[in-house]
Amino acid sequence: MEVIPIKLTVLGCWAPYPRVSGACSGYLLQEAGRNLLIEAGNGILARLLQHIDLEELDAVILSHLHPDHIMDIYSLRHAIEAANREGRMQRRIPLYLPTGPAEDFDRIKGFNKAFVVQIIEDLPEPGTAEIAGFKVVFVPGKHNLPVFSMSIEGKKKLVYSGDTAYNPELIHLAQGADLFLCEASGQDKDADYLKENHLTARQAGQLAQRAGAKTLMITHFYPEYSLSELQQQAEAGFGQAVEVAREGATIQL
Ligand SMILES: [Zn+2]
Ligand SMILES: [Zn+2]
Repeated sequence: MEVIPIKLTVLGCWAPYPRVSGACSGYLLQEAGRNLLIEAGNGILARLLQHIDLEELDAVILSHLHPDHIMDIYSLRHAIEAANREGRMQRRIPLYLPTGPAEDFDRIKGFNKAFVVQIIEDLPEPGTAEIAGFKVVFVPGKHNLPVFSMSIEGKKKLVYSGDTAYNPELIHLAQGADLFLCEASGQDKDADYLKENHLTARQAGQLAQRAGAKTLMITHFYPEYSLSELQQQAEAGFGQAVEVAREGATIQL
């Protein structure tokens, strides 16, 4: 029997709105029957259910509370509540998220029939948690609201940038990552406009190169941009071939 140590499936990759028939941020990480959802952007729940049954979901992490990363948490909440009410599930799902902005956090915190809310800033062992059997380390990113980049380790190491501007801490976090999943929100021409909040594709490549990541997958694309152009710029920064996230794409590590 084929052993699949760890597998990432892209559920959505667009920001801040999707392409036709697309979805915003969402990634399913699977290892040995455990299922971790990272981000819940608009359109990802229907895609998640193409890969697993709701009852198989172990935990959810939201890097930050921008709409393109959280919209489907509102539907997921109803799906989990209904499953519990109807006896298909007998548990709530751990949900890890930052606390700001307060308005969004307070609303999601109220979904406590569906989720066991875990505040990333208040973890008992600061910045570290075991989530769905993975060892997760959170590092604050640079964005216009609180965000966490994260490394997720099972048998292999995945590092996910979340939304962030250039951050030396992220290079440190991504050291030797088997897979670095990194936002690439803009082209070279956007570097100045994005510099406080996001990375260009080339910067994603440079971060991956400095971190010595084995594989770079870029994601979080502006829907109007050519993906091959973003890929070229990321490859110029990385110095080797780069994977491009699309709905349904999988990487096995
Ligand atoms: Zn975003
Ligand atoms: Zn954002």
